[in-house]
Amino acid sequence: MKQTPPHIAILPSPAISHLIPVVELARRLLLHDDLHVTIIIPCSDDLPPSDATKSVLESLPKPNTRTIFLPPDRFDDLPSDSRPTAELAFTVSHHLPSIHRVLKSLASRNTTTPPLVAVFVSLFAIDALDIAKGLGISSYVFYPMNAISLSVFFHLSKLDEIAASYDFLKDLPEPVKLPGCPSFRGRDLFSGVQDRRTDMYKKFLQFSKRLVSGEDFKGIVVNSVRDIESEAVKALQEENSGKLTIYPVGPIVNIDSSGQNNQDSECLTWLGNQPRGSVLYVSFGSGGTLSFDQMTELAFGLERSGQRFIWVVRKPNTQPPNATCLGPLEPLGFLPNGFLERTKGRGLVLPDWAPQVRVLGHGSTGGFLSHCGWSSTLESVVNGVPLIVWPLAAEQKMNAVLLVERLKVALRPKADDEDGLVRREEIANLVKALMEGTSEECRTVRNRMKDLKDLAVKALGEDGSSTRALSQLVSMLKKI
Ligand code: UDP
Repeated sequence: MKQTPPHIAILPSPAISHLIPVVELARRLLLHDDLHVTIIIPCSDDLPPSDATKSVLESLPKPNTRTIFLPPDRFDDLPSDSRPTAELAFTVSHHLPSIHRVLKSLASRNTTTPPLVAVFVSLFAIDALDIAKGLGISSYVFYPMNAISLSVFFHLSKLDEIAASYDFLKDLPEPVKLPGCPSFRGRDLFSGVQDRRTDMYKKFLQFSKRLVSGEDFKGIVVNSVRDIESEAVKALQEENSGKLTIYPVGPIVNIDSSGQNNQDSECLTWLGNQPRGSVLYVSFGSGGTLSFDQMTELAFGLERSGQRFIWVVRKPNTQPPNATCLGPLEPLGFLPNGFLERTKGRGLVLPDWAPQVRVLGHGSTGGFLSHCGWSSTLESVVNGVPLIVWPLAAEQKMNAVLLVERLKVALRPKADDEDGLVRREEIANLVKALMEGTSEECRTVRNRMKDLKDLAVKALGEDGSSTRALSQLVSMLKKI
């Protein structure tokens, strides 16, 4: 008799950049084996499903997948600190009753899909472990970022002790050495845990204790490539051996970004007309923004570099000095006067969003100035595109250290000591150096990125480390 395929649910946090790897994980699991996958997405009035979210979900293979949006919930107890991150964690907490209802129904024998055997929860949805336990459903944690940032959560209680006499981790006098990780200055650690006085910090401490206890879940699926983060993965596996399994299944990235719209095709047509490897792609992730002054420096820097570029431009997060005279402007209205005309033909400026996966996979793209979000980083790695790091928040500063100091696949611009701005001359020089490969360092960075690409591709091959980790995971699911 044919065995019923295992049915799993995935509970991501409601940010698009967390949803993209969840969808990709679902796709990878479905390619690997006969499974059913339900993705349960908590929404809030402030975080309704965007067009980008809907288009990402539409790319899922239909017959064996289902998406359930939990009804938006309004809540007023959101702490004022670390807003975007806090919002993710608190949105999930508010949905626990509806998560309970949905999981209970999926686990019942009366549904059209096979009964649920396991639920994968994101770190921000870790409170849902109690629900799964109450319903007798096995749980796994899905961590869409890398092993080094996961290490912070594994060692947060210890860090908390070390930092006992400081309000902010950035004030720690000594670099922090986590097992298997490069050393980090306190200020480079995950931004959500920087201020020890906040509710968000306390919530992360709870997450951390839960993670370390290893109770109520069977393993952690992490978007890491073992051969790229070998020491950090090894340390996590050794520390947790006998307690829970760490599955490094990365790179979990969307390689086939379908759902192209008109603006996408304009951008890809433009790219198609540029020489091979000549275009720098500039983007700060799904929501990253710069100050008005920094945006101005970046514009002049790109212009002076003389290089071709695609820049995803968002409204700055501070007002220009003469802001009172400005009405509501589109993002491009904040660019320096004449910038678009002077760079016409050599630069393409896109407001808010680009078909990033396609841009990075295009032969004309030769460099990426990135905020170093982990998905952006992996999307660059799988295409062998070297980076200029420009971390803004979350775990991006840690990723930048990994990329520049340990992996040596990226260049880092120097900021002004006084005001923290990266000046136009610095940007112009670095962009030119990366794109033209003029120095020994730049040539090394470009060559090492090619090597890293090979490691990422190998990990996904038939006998690659990530494929093996995925097989191990699927066989565990089949035994439940
Ligand atoms: N992304 C995109 N177009 C954009 C900006 C971002 O397609 O203009 C996608 C990008 O390909 C990646 C995700 O959004 O998959 C961003 O995730 P990442 O972890 O890099 O950064 P975050 O948004 O979490 O800061």
